[in-house]
Amino acid sequence: MALLETLHKSADLIRNCKRMLLLTSAGMSADSNIPTFRDKDGYWKNFPPFKEKNLEAQDLASPWAFRNELPHAWAFYEWRRRNANENQPHEGYRIINEWFEKNDGFIHTTNTDGLHLMSGCDKDRILEVHGSMWRLQCLDTCTNQYWDDVSVPLCDLDNQTMRASNFPKCIHCSSIARPHILMFGDGEYTGHPEQGINFRNFLQESVDLAILVGSSGAVPTNDYIALHLMESGTEVININLDASSNQIVNTDLFIEMKGKDAFVELNRIAFG
Ligand SMILES: [Zn+2]
Repeated sequence: MALLETLHKSADLIRNCKRMLLLTSAGMSADSNIPTFRDKDGYWKNFPPFKEKNLEAQDLASPWAFRNELPHAWAFYEWRRRNANENQPHEGYRIINEWFEKNDGFIHTTNTDGLHLMSGCDKDRILEVHGSMWRLQCLDTCTNQYWDDVSVPLCDLDNQTMRASNFPKCIHCSSIARPHILMFGDGEYTGHPEQGINFRNFLQESVDLAILVGSSGAVPTNDYIALHLMESGTEVININLDASSNQIVNTDLFIEMKGKDAFVELNRIAFG
């Protein structure tokens, strides 16, 4: 299908659907200048001290690193908090929130940058399935609780050595706090039960439209949710700059565009 025809068919579905599920991943926040770190070169370029020590992103994003390389582990997240804090949710986020005023909707995101909530999305309509960099939990899991901490800076950061200091503490036991994020090899992430319940409740009734945005082959969580829904009759729109990203869901409604540009265009056609 030609792009223009796909956009018009998709806009019709958006206008007429009753319940939509947004499945957002790295490509959604990339348009707000949030780096993904799937691309190794970009990661090494941002963090030369990690290259010298051969510490890859998945080494630092782990409970192991918080126990054995604490200054580097916190530096990695402190850098990302500062980066996210300097950037704003783009127009696509606002458009999704507007659509949710017209139709029932829910966001299932693998992003941890908190941009959906920052854009003003209803906190009862989102599952941040990999957590959020704006929440913390105890490294020793003295309780399963997590808490909000949106302060920037959170710790001290030496950009030359990429070592952090003055680490945040658990509000219960005063040991070290860690990000409330599902990291690599992480059996200690305490999760967000309320968000999980809201998502399960949303799926109790049928979803007539799912929109998959900016998914990457490295983390196909959202692709499989879209595929599962499609098999039970849900229409699926896939927005991605990378044509190979349509392999799992393989929908006819594939929009080869940046997330932000696609939302602006779809919104204009559907409601403009
Ligand atoms: Zn604790």
